Amino acid sequence: MTSTRRNERGLVCPRCGCRHFKTTHTEPLRDGRIRRRKTCRHCGRKIVTFEATPAPARPDR
Ligand SMILES: [Zn+2]
Repeated sequence: MTSTRRNERGLVCPRCGCRHFKTTHTEPLRDGRIRRRKTCRHCGRKIVTFEATPAPARPDR
């Protein structure tokens, strides 16, 4: 498996540069993505990320 979750891993706080975030809110969007609000544990900076959900593994054909 290759690292497909690069969004999650590459998240760095723009203020203090740390990578420790606490997800405070998760909201699925209608287009299939997930909006997550995260707060930096270090400085309290709030950021919002949009993540694409992996396609559901259902046999289409
Ligand atoms: Zn920070």
